[in-house]
Amino acid sequence: MIDTKGYAAFDQKSPLKPFAFKRREPGERDVLIDILFCGVCHSDLHQVRNEWAGSTYPLVPGHEIVGRVAKVGSAVKKFKEGDTVGVGCFVDSCGKCDACKRGLEQYCQSVVATYNTLQGDTPTYGGYSTRIVVTESFVLKISAKEKLEGVAPLLCAGITTWSPLKHWKIGKGHRVAVQGLGGLGHMAVKLAAALGAEVTLLSTSPSKSVDAQRLGAHHFVATRGKDALVKLAGHFDFIIDTVSAPHDLAALAGLLKLDATLVLLGVPPEAAQLPAFSLIAQRRSIAGSLVGGIAETQEMLDFCAAKGITADVETIPVQQIDSAYERMLKGDVRYRFTIDAKSLQ
Ligand code: NAP
Ligand code: ZN
Repeated sequence: MIDTKGYAAFDQKSPLKPFAFKRREPGERDVLIDILFCGVCHSDLHQVRNEWAGSTYPLVPGHEIVGRVAKVGSAVKKFKEGDTVGVGCFVDSCGKCDACKRGLEQYCQSVVATYNTLQGDTPTYGGYSTRIVVTESFVLKISAKEKLEGVAPLLCAGITTWSPLKHWKIGKGHRVAVQGLGGLGHMAVKLAAALGAEVTLLSTSPSKSVDAQRLGAHHFVATRGKDALVKLAGHFDFIIDTVSAPHDLAALAGLLKLDATLVLLGVPPEAAQLPAFSLIAQRRSIAGSLVGGIAETQEMLDFCAAKGITADVETIPVQQIDSAYERMLKGDVRYRFTIDAKSLQ
């Protein structure tokens, strides 16, 4: 077994603490990865605090992992020792169902999340740790040689925003709105702009206006201003909602054109209310989207490497995770925290 140092939540209220545990010895198809950086997703916070119910402790969060291959099993073909690799939100799936066959492993009924779930009888532990062992088919190739702390968030924030942009074929000629400028939101802005769309950032934080434009947004709207959204009624082809807390979905849906779609990415713990008229009026749709499959994650990583796109990060030692969560709750993340795994040694 492989000795691993991690940081874990032991209940939903207390600060995270050091946690020593063991990973399995790599099997013939496994890759042992020394973790370099792990991004901090708002989903980590939701699960640490049991906001979605069903969290089990100790809980080692982290599903935006970049590291170096330390060892490979005898049947591993894609990777060798020393390669730079990534691991995202899941580490296994059945491989046989319709979703798996379509490269949409995230929708497999037996998908194994990177943390806070069981793989067989063993709890999975995430990337707030020094090492991880993952079957090669769930490991991604990272071609970037530098700014790896900014590459880590692509493994969740990047693919979660890329997947709906590709599924709904968004690009040149489309007006896209992104609600919320946090980890997901800032990647949505960068990726939608890189795909050629005209991007409007909708934000509760007027202070983020300059950053939004630097990140690639063409327009910025402070949503708490009186009548801020009135002029934008029926304006957008596509809206990406990344908000982590309860908010007004009807107001957002009202900004869609005829036949356009609002995609929900954020997962507020409370259910939303939606008057039917806000959809019926213009045959609008509301959809949801969950991270992305392995093949499309590789496609997104390669696209970002070719275009020089990384996340804007504030790198922290793991010991600062609780204050990072508090800042995230205040919308004060610019625009992803990334843990430097050296701080776990
Ligand atoms: P984050 O960095 O904390 O960003 C969320 C942003 O939402 C904030 O920066 C803020 O932006 C805005 N916001 C916060 N509270 C708000 C409120 N009450 N009303 C309106 N806007 C508010 O979080 P994240 O890591 O991007 O994650 C966002 C959500 O996506 C979380 O719920 C997370 O669990 C979920 N998620 C889903 C998937 C998926 O597969 N669908 C994957 C990853 C994460 P402004 O300051 O600009 O308003
Ligand atoms: Zn995430």
